[in-house]
Amino acid sequence: MSAMLKHVAIICVCAYLLPYFLRWYYSITIDQPDEEYDFIIVGAGTAGNVIANRLTESPNTKVLALEAGDNDAPNFFISVPLFAPFLQRSKRDWQFRTEPQKKACLLLKDNVSLWPRGKVIGGSSTMNYLWYVRGGKDGYDSWEKSGATGWSYKDVLPYFKKSEQAMHKNMTEDFHGTDGYLKTSYPYNSELGNIMLKAGEELGYKHTDYNADDMVGFHLAQQTVYNGQRITSASSFLRPIIKERRKRLHIVGRAHVRQIVFEAGEDGRKRASGVIYVRDDVEVKVRARKEVIVSGGAVGSPQLLMLSGIGPKQHLNDMEIPVVADLKGVGQNLKDHVYVPATIHASNLTDGISVNDNTLFKTAFEYLLRGTGPLGYAGPEAQALIRSSHAKTNSPDIQLILLSAEWTMANIEANQNNLNYKQEYVDRLRQWGEEHDTKTLSNFLIFNGVLDPTSVGYIKLRSSNYLDHPVIQPNYLSNQKDVEIMIEGFRLIEKLEKTKSFKEIGAKMELSALNCGDETQSPRSDKFYECMVRAITGTSFHPVGTAKIGAPSDVMAVVDPRLRVYKVDGLRVADASVMPSIPSANTQAACYMIGEKAADMIKEDWNL
Ligand SMILES: Cc1cc2nc3c(=O)[nH]c(=O)nc-3n(C[C@H](O)[C@H](O)[C@H](O)COP(=O)(O)OP(=O)(O)OC[C@H]3O[C@@H](n4cnc5c(N)ncnc54)[C@H](O)[C@@H]3O)c2cc1C
Repeated sequence: MSAMLKHVAIICVCAYLLPYFLRWYYSITIDQPDEEYDFIIVGAGTAGNVIANRLTESPNTKVLALEAGDNDAPNFFISVPLFAPFLQRSKRDWQFRTEPQKKACLLLKDNVSLWPRGKVIGGSSTMNYLWYVRGGKDGYDSWEKSGATGWSYKDVLPYFKKSEQAMHKNMTEDFHGTDGYLKTSYPYNSELGNIMLKAGEELGYKHTDYNADDMVGFHLAQQTVYNGQRITSASSFLRPIIKERRKRLHIVGRAHVRQIVFEAGEDGRKRASGVIYVRDDVEVKVRARKEVIVSGGAVGSPQLLMLSGIGPKQHLNDMEIPVVADLKGVGQNLKDHVYVPATIHASNLTDGISVNDNTLFKTAFEYLLRGTGPLGYAGPEAQALIRSSHAKTNSPDIQLILLSAEWTMANIEANQNNLNYKQEYVDRLRQWGEEHDTKTLSNFLIFNGVLDPTSVGYIKLRSSNYLDHPVIQPNYLSNQKDVEIMIEGFRLIEKLEKTKSFKEIGAKMELSALNCGDETQSPRSDKFYECMVRAITGTSFHPVGTAKIGAPSDVMAVVDPRLRVYKVDGLRVADASVMPSIPSANTQAACYMIGEKAADMIKEDWNL
């Protein structure tokens, strides 16, 4: 064989083996767990990984984390923030869907909202849009008042701080942590983000550190991004410690837990003694000496509880699942933020203002060289957090998020519209795009969201088969108040249109793509906006509350304030599902906080 052929052969073999090597190198999972652990965590997601890390700080504690999804790395789409949308509808997404909505999602296919959730080590933190927003003080104080003793703002603030390693300057250590695992920073934003802030100033709003001071105002976003890399619960809480703790922290991927196992405990109460999971079609049973901690998220946790016999008795009977504990609240109290995107056509965007102006080459170069530029952020640039006339507390109940990137339009057009929107809407968008020459991309979006929704939904089992996605009924916009708050959001966008900053770039809300402006509903009337809100409502990806914390007297409470499931022993829930109500914020920060607080309580209870 000639030397040249030899070289080609070596290169081919290396290229063939490289993916295997990378997978092996980055893998943090094992294939064969032991038969017994002190703690078993179901779900290596946002909260679950914090708990896995903190419990194994104690050298004599052995923990198993079971995750239905696979390893998170190496994956270009996960680590480069701008590619976040492409993780949706991939194998790393559970790809849940809501039931058809009666009063919302009317221009979405089947009137259904797609509900992405992370199915991968790192959970939803691996596919989210990275905003780090904690929510108003009043929200947490209301948790305490509702029966979640020990969860007031003053109680949870130390845990927000404990999880965080704030990398941004000019922050106050009264509110931010500097030596936690979770890096947060202000990533890249284009000039358009600054224009939004200036427009807010013209309207009399300040920009503050919304995780420290008053939330109300116009702000650039703190995000779980550092040096252009997405920070997930796996990259922050698992990877740095796994080598050193490999003997006492075992993580198994592709392990779908189908049931919690109970045995007779003290006083006739049932005690969680382990779980059964399925991996590559093989069932495995593992024992927990101390506790099982369910961190499957707002969908996965109530589903697993019900599959294991913990839930509303009647529903379990209907599903022919033997009842272990009749807890009416499991799957109930579902809250989610909703948004509606407003397209803004900016006729006078000059070069260098929008992220859309960046060439592919310049963008890639900037990212590779300095970890900054459009690839290093997840799309949203700036936000307005405002109180509507309905706001009951000092916390904002309207969130406007500005997205300026080319990919937003491209992605919405290519991915979501075709799959999620009815054809008539897609056709209208295309037509509108042709009229306005979207190739120049002189558009941006403002997502108008309601932070304190009053509509409440539920999650139920579809069947007793663990592989069947549950019934998800958020009842979006079933309460008129939510619509009214969103109409006020549109009124705020109208005010922005009138500012000097928006006028200079010729920014105007585009309303023609919707079929809402007929003779009876003149554009910009309340009726018009209501039509728009009900037509293209979508999830803001923040479901919470389906296994809520509450006092023993609250029949709808699923866990007590120490996150122990009522009526059984040895079982806790710790994730978004335990929130008694939805924070006035995107929800990941609160999930990290819940993970930290849960771990501390477990350590206290077991003297670890
Ligand atoms: C597309 C998207 C964008 C978002 N954007 C933002 C944002 O910008 N800012 C923000 O603050 N929040 C955002 N969120 C919300 C935020 O990410 C979530 O609220 C948070 O990550 C939820 O954490 P969790 O621990 O409750 O659940 P998850 O992180 O979802 O973890 C649950 C884990 O349990 C696993 N699991 C479930 N059931 C089982 C089972 N039976 N067996 C084994 N494993 C199981 C899942 O696979 C998953 O890994 C977004 C969410 C999504 C999906």
